[in-house]
Amino acid sequence: MGRRGISRRKALTSALALGGVTAALAVQVVAERRRALPADRMRPPGALREGDFLDACVRCGLCVRACPFDTLHLAGLDAPLPVGTPFFVARATPCYMCEDIPCAAACPTGALALADIGAARMGLARLSAPERCFSYTGVAYCDSCFQACPIKGRAIRMQHGRTPRGGSFQPVVDASACTGCGKCENACILEGDAAITVAANHAARR
Ligand code: SF4
Ligand code: SF4
Ligand code: SF4
Repeated sequence: MGRRGISRRKALTSALALGGVTAALAVQVVAERRRALPADRMRPPGALREGDFLDACVRCGLCVRACPFDTLHLAGLDAPLPVGTPFFVARATPCYMCEDIPCAAACPTGALALADIGAARMGLARLSAPERCFSYTGVAYCDSCFQACPIKGRAIRMQHGRTPRGGSFQPVVDASACTGCGKCENACILEGDAAITVAANHAARR
C-alpha cells in the first residue's frame, strides 16, 4: 500500500475514533437528561423547564456569584445533577425571593428568565410528614413555617379545625401562589428533616 493509502486509512481511523467519542458524549448527555433529578434540588428562580434549562445553561456560575445569600451552588462531580448547573437545597439555605432577582439578572443566556419574583415557580411546598408536625399532632403550638413565608396568607395559611392526629390546626399550601422558595421548609423547627418540604419544580409539577 502506498503512502496515500496509509494516510487515508489513518484519517479514516481518526474519524471513526472521533465519531466514537462524539457518540459516547451524546449518550452521556441523553443519560444525564433522563436521570431522575432529586426533588430536593431546586433550580434558581426563573429557570426554564428542565430540558430547555439544560440546553440554555452554559454553567458559567454568574447566578451563583450574584446571589447575596449563598443560596445557590454549582453541581459538582458527585452531585445528582448535571455537573456545573446551579441549584439550592431549601432545608440548608432557601431562596430569599430578592425583589430585584439578581441571579436571573446575571444570567447571560436566558436560562433564568423572570421579571417578578412572585411569579417564580421553583417548586411546591406541602406538609409531607404531618405525623411529625407539632401543630398537626397537637404536641405544641407552632406556626414557624407560616411565619417564614414571604407571601403568607396567599401561599400558605394555618387552617383551623381538628386534624386526624388530634391537632387543632395545620399549614395548608396554595399551589397557585407558592413560589417554591423553601423558606417554610428551612424554618421548620423539627430536628433533621422538616415536616413541610418543597419538591422542586421538575418533580412537583411535571
Ligand atoms: S432570588 Fe435572591 S436569594 Fe433567591 S436565588 Fe436569586 S439571588 Fe439568591
Ligand atoms: S447564570 Fe445562567 S447560564 Fe450561568 S450558570 Fe446560572 S443559569 Fe446557567
Ligand atoms: S415554599 Fe413555603 S415559604 Fe415559599 S412561597 Fe411556598 S409556602 Fe411560602
